[in-house]
Amino acid sequence: MSYVFGPVPSRRLGLSLGVDLIPLKTCSFDCLYCEVGRTTSKTIKTDLFVPVTEVVSAVEKKLHNCVPDTITLAGSGEPTLYSGIDQVIDCIRGMSKIKLALLTNGSLFFKKEIRQRVLKTDIILPTLCSAFEDTFRKIHRPHPDLHLAMIVDGLKKLRYDYKGKIFLEIVLLSGFNDTEKELEGLKTLARQISPDQIQLNTVVRPPADATAISLDGKTMEEIKVFFGGNTEIVAEVPLEGRKIKEVSLINILLDMIRIRPLSSVDISKALNISMDDAEDMIKGLLIKGYIRKQEYSGKIFYLVSIHK
Ligand code: SF4
Repeated sequence: MSYVFGPVPSRRLGLSLGVDLIPLKTCSFDCLYCEVGRTTSKTIKTDLFVPVTEVVSAVEKKLHNCVPDTITLAGSGEPTLYSGIDQVIDCIRGMSKIKLALLTNGSLFFKKEIRQRVLKTDIILPTLCSAFEDTFRKIHRPHPDLHLAMIVDGLKKLRYDYKGKIFLEIVLLSGFNDTEKELEGLKTLARQISPDQIQLNTVVRPPADATAISLDGKTMEEIKVFFGGNTEIVAEVPLEGRKIKEVSLINILLDMIRIRPLSSVDISKALNISMDDAEDMIKGLLIKGYIRKQEYSGKIFYLVSIHK
């Protein structure tokens, strides 16, 4: 398992170096819109899935040859399921002053020990998609022991305990949480949670389930106005216009695989980067949904994702 991926450009976090603490695909949710694919291990039991020292040394090695804007704990599932997350945070804090972010579905913050483990990050980006239990269950297909009320309570407690910034992500899906009632409910709950920012998202990459349909730009703008003040739309990541080596390489790679599928060896040779760096870049682009993989004659090739 590769513990770092990218760096990849993120609208919310700049050039983000991802740290993956979770085996594919272990999560407390199985969201319709997930870009990583269906959850194969649905759990709320934390575990030390991978050795802390190996994760930390992979991050340290990567920081020798890249300077991201943010180091982001994220990846192939729900990162708060990793019981060593506090140790990883402490070690990264000790080696770098780069901003540290946590991308999470927020489902486990009702547990005090989980909140305590992540307090030393700079930004936490939890998700909230509905104020109603039935819609919550339809969109997230959560672990049976999870309920919306306990998750909202956990987010409010996190707000109280946590001194960093909270960016609350709301993923909007056509026909699920875009009605007046849903939006009113979300606005009321968001006010109670009191995040530093509300970030509106929708489906922009192939989702785990075809019923997850995006909202159009005009509707997203109207919803942004409805939420008011501290709300942003974060639905698309601009790759262009950034004079950063990693972004240039990503653009070159995407241009190449638009023409023909490439293997990881092809990518390493074409970009003149090591196999390790090629694999980190590929993993980042797979997780962000920019590319997909396909097997042919026993070999894995990478293709540009087709937007549904
Ligand atoms: S979107 Fe996030 S929370 Fe939802 S299933 Fe995928 S990894 Fe889990």
